[in-house]
Amino acid sequence: MFDKILIANRGEIALRVLRACKELGIATVAVHSTADADAMHVRLADESVCIGPPQSKDSYLNVPALLAACEITGADAVHPGYGFLSENARFAEILDDHNLHFIGPKAEHIRLMGDKIEAKKTAKRLGIPVVPGSDGAVGPDDDAMSIAKEIGFPVLVKAAAGGGGRGMKVAHTADDLALAISTAGNEAKAAFGDASVYLEKYLQKPRHIEIQVLGDGRGGAIHPGERDCSLQRRHQKVWEESPSPVISPEARARIGGICAKAMQEMQYLGVGTIEFLYEDGEFYFIEMNTRIQVEHPVTEMITGIDLVLEQIRIAAGGDLPVTQDEITLNGHAIECRVNAENPVTFRPSPGKISRYHPPGGLGIRIDSAVYQGYTIPPYYDSLVGKLIVHGKTRGECLMRLRRALDEMVVDGIETTLPLFRALVREPSIIDGDYHIHWLEQYLASGDPAG
Ligand code: ADP
Repeated sequence: MFDKILIANRGEIALRVLRACKELGIATVAVHSTADADAMHVRLADESVCIGPPQSKDSYLNVPALLAACEITGADAVHPGYGFLSENARFAEILDDHNLHFIGPKAEHIRLMGDKIEAKKTAKRLGIPVVPGSDGAVGPDDDAMSIAKEIGFPVLVKAAAGGGGRGMKVAHTADDLALAISTAGNEAKAAFGDASVYLEKYLQKPRHIEIQVLGDGRGGAIHPGERDCSLQRRHQKVWEESPSPVISPEARARIGGICAKAMQEMQYLGVGTIEFLYEDGEFYFIEMNTRIQVEHPVTEMITGIDLVLEQIRIAAGGDLPVTQDEITLNGHAIECRVNAENPVTFRPSPGKISRYHPPGGLGIRIDSAVYQGYTIPPYYDSLVGKLIVHGKTRGECLMRLRRALDEMVVDGIETTLPLFRALVREPSIIDGDYHIHWLEQYLASGDPAG
């Protein structure tokens, strides 16, 4: 097992990793920018190192500073959390060159899945069903139009290096195609330094269903079920639940089995998520994330598996915590991402939290790094915290969620709490009857959170 882990992240996920380390008896090193000197992860870690000024590129993405922090503190492993350097294959290799463990998959797998075109080809080869689309990148000189016509409009132009919903444009008709390709390409070039784009059938009313996987890197792999992340705004997840209200045990076993088998074949190491769109009973692979995800707690709540703790144990050479047969899904869990944003315009609202009261009681979990008097800095994501609720049934879960949302107080800044309070009373949400465009249509239909 590792002796000392440096957590190359901030906010709630840094705290989440820190908690797992404490339970495992591993010493922790927090790193922080000058803007995060008062952050909770810094206060709770055994040691902390300031790694640079506020901008992420100068601090949380500053590899030389992170290496220096490892050396100064004698850390033997690095947990990257999510975002920042978590899916940077080069970072994993550099750590390896310095005899430091990267708590994550093998660099080759990070690289493979980081290129969505290669990821799709790999998925196809491993027997995972994919969205119909172009076989590879399409350029203005290629016969994009004939490929698009073969797929059928509307088509989605997607960036090979895409992430966070960027570099994606829909072409509803043949007339829109050239513009969609150039806009998506330019956006991708600006955001990721890689302009390659590919085409995919644009699904009209799918759900976003993702399968969590864990692999031991030696050919063993299991799946603890799915998460339904269909409530999205601008391709960003807002609310996640497990199990999905629309996935039957048979469908779960089928797609989960395909994913676990693929991971066995790849000899995948650590935790990962295979993302699908799901429409008319069919699953279509869109991408794989080779890291812990924001919404991992809903899986933890219904399986009892501590994914972050197991991720650390597996990285240290440990075995998978359970066999596939030993996994049982217990009840239902929902996560709401409470952001420091205006609930109607979604404009970020950083600032000082004047009053803070997290809800409590049976089945309530808060993963957050804020506290009363804390100032949310303007430089990073706007997550205030994740409210995760568990119940024996989806009905009980919704009942508790309604109560918890009413109880939660975050004053001094604007948050998306009013949106969730409205959503949890919406008939479509109560019925589990929604798809990936539902939330945007709902938001466009009036002033639901006002
Ligand atoms: P990113 O890496 O930017 O998050 P993804 O490929 O994971 O991109 O897609 C993000 C979201 O975009 C999906 O959850 C879904 O809402 C939407 N999306 C992606 N592909 C399609 C598609 N072929 N048809 C319709 N919506 C899609």
